[in-house]
Amino acid sequence: MIEGNDLFGKTIQCSCGRMHQITPNKVFYEEDAISFIQETLTGLTSAKRVAVIMDVRTRAAAGGGIVEHLKLNDWLVHEVVLTDPADGESPVCDDRTKERLQSEIPAQHVIIPVGGGVMTDLGKWIAFDRGIPFITFATAASMNGYASANVAPTVKGIKSLIRARPPEAIFSRPSVLMDAPWELTASGLGDIIAKSVSSADWFLNHFLFDDYFCERSVGLIADIEPLYFDHPEALNAGDPGSIKALFMGLLLTGVSMTMAESSAPSSGGEHMVSHTLDMMSSVDGIPHDLHGRQVGIGTILASELYRRVLAIDSPDWKSPPSRIDAPFWGYLSGNINEQYDRKQERLQKAEEVLSERKQWDELRTRIQPVLRAPGDVKDCLQRAGAAYRAEDIGCGEERILAAFRHAHEIRSRFTVLDLAYLLGIMPKAAEEIVEEWV
Ligand SMILES: [Zn+2]
Ligand SMILES: [Zn+2]
Repeated sequence: MIEGNDLFGKTIQCSCGRMHQITPNKVFYEEDAISFIQETLTGLTSAKRVAVIMDVRTRAAAGGGIVEHLKLNDWLVHEVVLTDPADGESPVCDDRTKERLQSEIPAQHVIIPVGGGVMTDLGKWIAFDRGIPFITFATAASMNGYASANVAPTVKGIKSLIRARPPEAIFSRPSVLMDAPWELTASGLGDIIAKSVSSADWFLNHFLFDDYFCERSVGLIADIEPLYFDHPEALNAGDPGSIKALFMGLLLTGVSMTMAESSAPSSGGEHMVSHTLDMMSSVDGIPHDLHGRQVGIGTILASELYRRVLAIDSPDWKSPPSRIDAPFWGYLSGNINEQYDRKQERLQKAEEVLSERKQWDELRTRIQPVLRAPGDVKDCLQRAGAAYRAEDIGCGEERILAAFRHAHEIRSRFTVLDLAYLLGIMPKAAEEIVEEWV
């Protein structure tokens, strides 16, 4: 069976020097998962009061059954069903929604989000603010946040990252994940396929700046990956083993972020391309696609950029752009400027370290094995029937190119995007890669 499942709830003394407490404590992935909820809740509260957060779709998929089951067992259940905003969009995780739920959900209620990224994040955020434990019911293998400590809300229009706590336990049902809309599962594949680039970027920061790095957390999904990566069509066909592998892989990449106390293991330059698309949306109002669908395409772009970077034998180091493209960012430029300013020191240090010929060669040798060829990434997404072209995520060539070129500005985190600027191959490489690859 899948080994990762044995890890939950364990404490590991790791060779990285840290003691890792692997949370959540338990994962129930079975058809009668609901029947284990009560027992778990009893360990968390004596009040027998819960608030179940869901939207209309996740209520139909699982939430309604959970509410009914708990009521039958004498739990006082406060149901929160988020309706779709009038514009035809789905509910979002932002400061306004969270404040509304905060005032609506009575104290002393254990919180159970039922859904994907948005419901999970809202529940995790509120539980963290209240200092209470929570459990999650997953309705789609759509993203890696179920088991992570992170919440990724929009606060005052800006995509943010808040450190919270993982759930005590995660529940899901194979048939619910198999019946989830395909674009959600495809989004999960896009999110997890980022792993090769984000691991490489994480190692890059370790190599250059001596940042914390843990081999074990990088290798957590090594055994699981081939189960979906080598047979992407099976995922699309709803093969139970592939869906389970993807779901467990997503949970474990969430765990790796908790182990690292950072999103770095699962979020590098490829994620920054996706975040940039989200931010462009909030500036110009043009809708963006699902997180993982954008990340998948970001991974194709970043993988090819890495290939070009590592192919350089004798680098000719250039000064990176000293400032951001403020007019492009509109009302977000102040915040983005701050992020980019904070990176300046790292840009200088990176050039200093890598100017030594030996260091450059060593970095290339050590990063290469972590990466996947861009063609393999694209092939997997394409065979799965996931988004692999700019048009699949509603972008023309110009929009995806703008995101690729500007993505290095949005965070202080150093990635392959910065390395490519230091090597002088960006932004020219971006034009070629977009034209050739997506
Ligand atoms: Zn470790
Ligand atoms: Zn992600």
